[in-house]
This record gives sequence, C-alpha cells and structure tokens, in this order.
Amino acid sequence: MKRICLLLAILTVTLSAHSQHKPRPDAFPPLPEAVETKAVTMATSMEEMLSWDRYPTYSVYLQMMEKWANDFPQLCHIDTIGTSVKGRLILSLFIETPSTNNLYRPEFFYSSTIHGDEVTGFVMLLRLIDTLLNGYGNNPQYTNLLNRTRISINPLANPDGTYYLGDNTVQGSVRYNAHHVDLNRNYPNPFVSSKATIEPENEAMINYFDHHLFRLSANLHGGSEVMNYPWDSFTSLQNPHPCADWWIDVCKRFVDTCRTYNNSHFRDVTSSGYIAGGDWYVIHGGRQDYFNYHNNCLELTMEVSTTKTLSSNRLPEYWNFLQHSLVNYIEEIHSLPENNGIANSKVIFYPNPTVGFIHLSHPVFSPIELFGVDGHPLMQFPSGTVTLDLNNLPAGIYLLRYDGNTTKILKQ
Ligand SMILES: [Zn+2]
Repeated sequence: MKRICLLLAILTVTLSAHSQHKPRPDAFPPLPEAVETKAVTMATSMEEMLSWDRYPTYSVYLQMMEKWANDFPQLCHIDTIGTSVKGRLILSLFIETPSTNNLYRPEFFYSSTIHGDEVTGFVMLLRLIDTLLNGYGNNPQYTNLLNRTRISINPLANPDGTYYLGDNTVQGSVRYNAHHVDLNRNYPNPFVSSKATIEPENEAMINYFDHHLFRLSANLHGGSEVMNYPWDSFTSLQNPHPCADWWIDVCKRFVDTCRTYNNSHFRDVTSSGYIAGGDWYVIHGGRQDYFNYHNNCLELTMEVSTTKTLSSNRLPEYWNFLQHSLVNYIEEIHSLPENNGIANSKVIFYPNPTVGFIHLSHPVFSPIELFGVDGHPLMQFPSGTVTLDLNNLPAGIYLLRYDGNTTKILKQ
C-alpha cells in the first residue's frame, strides 16, 4: 500500500509538474503558422538593413558578414563553418581584438536558427555583431568584454531551411534542412547509441567545435520565450545537470534584465522564464546536450520569441528588450562554475600505454599534474592542454591529477 501511495505521489508530482507547462512547440512539427499574414519585409540591399526592421536576403546576409570583416579587419574575421546540403554557407564572425597581453581569453559561441523558420534570433545575432564591433573603443562595457573574450557568432545555422523558397525571402521558411531532417534532433545522442546519419550542417558544426575551446554558448530558437538549460535528454529529477544551480542564476539574470525593458516577455512557458529542458519536454539528439557532454561547453537553448517568423517590423522591439541580456550572457563566461562536473566522469587519456604522447578526449578545467608513483611531482600542464608530451620521461607508471581526479598511465 505504501508503495502504491508512493507511486501515486510520484505520478501526481510528475503530472502536475508537466501540466504547469504548455507542450513544447519545439518538440513538434511546426504549427501551420499563418506566416503569410505576417508582414515579412525583406531587405534587398545593406542600406535597407540599417533600421533593422527587415530580414536580409541570403545575398544581403553574406554582404553584411563580408562588410564587417572588411571594415573591422583588426577585430574580426569570417569563419566558414561549412556548407549546407544545397551548398549555402554556414558562417561565423569570429571577434578577437588585438591582444595587449598574453592572458588567456575564453571562447564564447552564439548560434541561431538551427530551425530554419525560427528567424528572430538570426536578426538579433546580426545586430549583436554590429553593436559589438561598432561599440568597441566607444562603449566601455563592450570594449572590456571584447578585450577579455574571443567571441564567435553564427547567425544562421540552417540556411536551406530559412531560404527554403529561394534566396530572396524568408517567407515559407521551414524547420528542417534540405533533407527534411530536424537538425536539432540529429546530433549524436551522447546517452543512447544511435546510427542516425549526421547531416552536413551538424557535421560541420561538430568539426568547428572540435577545433575550438568554447566554454559557453547558446543556441537561439523561436516559438516560445524561455531559457531552456540542460539537460534536454532527462528530467531534472532523473539526472540534473551538474551545474543546475549556476544555470538557474544565469537564466534568472537574463530574464530579469529583459523584463526591466519589457515586463511582458518570457512568460509563456513558465512564470520564471526558465526551465530545465527535460522538465518542459524530453528530446533526444539536440545540439545543447551534445556540446555540454562531448565538448565540455556549457550551452543552453534560448527561445527568444513566441512567434517563429516574427513580423519584421517587430524586430526592433525584440532587440530592445533582448540586447542587454545577450551581451551580459557573454559576460557569464568569466564566472563559470569551477568545474561543470562533466569532465570528471568523461575525459579519456589515450593511448595508454603510450610511447610518447598522451591525448585527452577533451580539455579539463584544472591544470594537469604528473606525479611519479611515489607522489613526487614531475610535470605540470596548463588548463586546456589536450596533448601531453611525455617523450622525455623514462618508462614506468605515472599518475595524472586533474580536476580532483587521478588517472594511472603507463609509459613504455
Ligand atoms: Zn527550435
């Protein structure tokens, strides 16, 4: 009886927890939104983007990225992350100011519109690039932030979905890529083995992450307004993210700042404006969980507008309440939790035994110390090192200490 009561209690808690939230639009095929009834105006020249109340054509988007790289060559360059199924470019603007010292500057990543019809974030990130670059040297907050941080911004992760009907309009944009695959269900599932073919857009993004050391990122979506922090693959009761408390603080700051500019936003899913992804709706194959788990990058999903394809004349209104939070979120990279707890359980040192070099499956947060079996310290490698050169050590057994863990390795 007691057991039944307990089960009922759990069921009740679970049901009531779910009933508090609307179903996740993100989890379903797109609703037949009346996109055609919305005023979607396209900018067919860069001049027409000046008031930020239009969506750029694909060509204008490329021109904007090129212009920034040309106008601010000391501050940024274009990274080509890859190409879409139809050969459109997946670009990022990498902002890195001239170094006045050799201090470590962590890498941050913003990305938007992995769902091609969720286009608000596309324009928000374009405008963010413009604001940061033009603010450098003028705005003390932006200048200080850029001097301490390397920032990569990918405004459009799924160009084939966004320009589904052609390069000149985002009318008729779709969620999927040109293979009709939902890219945010197509990442390798870190927790369940899957044989799904990884789409070229995602393959390119994975490769880009593997060549960087992003510590914090966000993926912008639309269809709701809520900060969705990891995990998406589990409810918080099943498996809370090791940094859940930190995520809640970060989300709260983001939402509170938005609401100081417009108190009506971030209210359609929870009253707080944030939620652990799986408590809203469990999904598998999402980008957020993959990069948290595989790349030790703290990534969350920002749902930034209740409408997926926002009327273009409302874009400035959304920028007004989002802009400060978007900048402040980058700042959070300078107060990351000391250890996100994932590296502890996951890092693999290989090959082991080794004849010279040892590689790490991904970076750890602390310096890596090497000891003899008697505990005598021998070598130390800085945080972020992913290859250890042990060529000069005699054969034998050694201990590597990192993030509070110890691993035994054998040098042959
Ligand atoms: Zn989405």
